[in-house]
Amino acid sequence: MVWRDIAVAIPRATNRSPAAESQRLAAARQAAYEQISQLKASVSATASLAEAAIFDAHLMFLDDAALLEKAQAAIDAGTAAEAGWMDGIEFFAAQLARLPDPILQARAADVRDVGRRVLDQLLGRPAASLDLRAPSVVVARDLAPSQIASLPVTRVLAFCTAEGGPTSHTAILAKAWGKPAVVALGKAVLEITEAVQLLVDGSRGEVVIDPDEETAQAFALRRQQSEQLAASALAAALEPAVTPDRRRIEIAANIGSVEDAARALEYGAEGVGLLRTEFLYLDRQSAPTEEDHLAAYKAILEMMGTRPVIARTQDIGGDKTVPYLDLPKEANPFLGWRAIRISLDRPEVFAIQLRALWRASPGHDLRIMFPMIATPDELRAAKAALDRARRDVAASNQPLAARVQVGMMVEVPSAAVLADQFAREVDFFSIGTNDLTQYTLAADRTNERVVTLSDACHPAVLRLIHQVVESGHREGRWVGVCGELAADADAVPLLLGLGADELSMAPQRIPAVKAIVRQWSYTRAQQLAHQALAVSSAAAVRALVHETTPA
Ligand code: PEP
Ligand code: MG
Repeated sequence: MVWRDIAVAIPRATNRSPAAESQRLAAARQAAYEQISQLKASVSATASLAEAAIFDAHLMFLDDAALLEKAQAAIDAGTAAEAGWMDGIEFFAAQLARLPDPILQARAADVRDVGRRVLDQLLGRPAASLDLRAPSVVVARDLAPSQIASLPVTRVLAFCTAEGGPTSHTAILAKAWGKPAVVALGKAVLEITEAVQLLVDGSRGEVVIDPDEETAQAFALRRQQSEQLAASALAAALEPAVTPDRRRIEIAANIGSVEDAARALEYGAEGVGLLRTEFLYLDRQSAPTEEDHLAAYKAILEMMGTRPVIARTQDIGGDKTVPYLDLPKEANPFLGWRAIRISLDRPEVFAIQLRALWRASPGHDLRIMFPMIATPDELRAAKAALDRARRDVAASNQPLAARVQVGMMVEVPSAAVLADQFAREVDFFSIGTNDLTQYTLAADRTNERVVTLSDACHPAVLRLIHQVVESGHREGRWVGVCGELAADADAVPLLLGLGADELSMAPQRIPAVKAIVRQWSYTRAQQLAHQALAVSSAAAVRALVHETTPA
């Protein structure tokens, strides 16, 4: 099914009064508000809250003061509501499209999406949607989030788009729904005639148009095999991950909400390896109170029962900004005031989170870790703040867990280099390979232009991981990995072989990762890891894994 953009004429002249036009615009925005809220609800039911947050941004654009001011000025000058509104939308979309950051550029599509929805209301047209009667591959120039969200998920087989990139919403939503997607195929893909057969392989980024019999059969076989693998992995998702030579590795989930916690259990998580607590701070107008924190932590801990839950104290800054904290604009936000640096500079704000964590602790295996630790002094200061919070809570006669493990993220190269010193002062390490890779290879994790440098399978990163695991084990500490690398099929045997005790990942990845662990003997994984430390590129590491993978 090819989704072709239909050009519409936007009326500019009107014989209605400016007041009447303003009223039409207000009514259209209200109707759009209701539609977007509905889409948000349906996406949070089928994907997750993180994906649904795309629509929070849409709701915010709808009310954007600068946008409304621009539209109103045009209407006051006698322009029709349609043209006044769309001029404002185009003005802001064009500004975003000119920004150097590809992630912000991609947000121009969101602004135009909202613009189009209100325009449809003003023109009295039904919102654009694709009538998928039979299961189909959807081909489009690009798909706006609301267009994707309006599709009947069960009838979409795959997505192919002419434009877009790995951070586009087509890619994000397709991933959340488990649909194959190939993006940035170029304009030629729009010439495809409907009813022709397409073969889409999302993992290889391959699309075959009108295949011959032999190719189609080979594809069908590959698909069948991968479906069988996924089904058997899912069937064994609740079993532990043990290698044939009986090494067990703990598989946990990275979560940001109580909904994610439910999903984690469903997919077989043995605990939470990373609770990104900054979700509590984002997407709101003022700082969360101690009671807000407490309610959120309690809900998650109750869901997880006595399984371990590692709460990471807030990691704001970098690419996560919060308006009410008044963060300064920085030239290099990833190297700037972020995470533990903010917490230590704002002790009163930090104490609120730490007290809530202690208050949530009784009856559960809550563990606490600090993000972005670069120096032992920072770790000591963070531990002292945690201790003060414990004394505060105890002084007010509130119950506390007898013991809480305290750990740190290893995501700054200095922390990996000094891991032997840090190991004496923590109960565990959790290696954040996303940041560790961007800092080790000096390649901004949000910049698509340096994306080839940021492969965490790089031997430079693997050597740091090796050193952290060795240092931790020498002091009797357990070591986990919670960056995206932990869910990377090629990296699982490497991390197993390097001696990681725990891997933590997006819930949906758990069944497949457990299946990989069951496939590799620990001895063989150790040999592989040893070889990988000696090569000189991420590509060579991946090639080694492919050559050695057990049949
Ligand atoms: C990491 O850096 O690998 C990590 C897990 O933390 P975040 O992705 O939240 O920065
Ligand atoms: Mg990080």
